[in-house]
Amino acid sequence: MEEGWRGLSLAPPSHRLEPTVPAPLPTPSTRWRCTQCGNLTRFDVTRTSRVREFVHLDLAGEPQVEEREVLTESLDEVRCRWCQGVDTVELVARPDAGGPLPDPAST
Ligand SMILES: [Zn+2]
Repeated sequence: MEEGWRGLSLAPPSHRLEPTVPAPLPTPSTRWRCTQCGNLTRFDVTRTSRVREFVHLDLAGEPQVEEREVLTESLDEVRCRWCQGVDTVELVARPDAGGPLPDPAST
């Protein structure tokens, strides 16, 4: 399930002057890869999201979030966890779509 990625949307392409352009979003057949160090598995992802929560308070006033709906979500930055590269992340095919495997030790 790629449930987590659904509903994500990139900023409109009109923001081309901004220096921090996040990597494109992975799809069911693609994944992120750091072009600088080859990292496929570890990234720090910064997202901005606007959510609506159903907060249920008990009689003592203790709140509990019972439902959370993501209204808007945008990807701000994808940083490689290994080399701290920010503009180094590209999309490649997943292993079952002909892409590289995540474990370079086997080569
Ligand atoms: Zn890297």
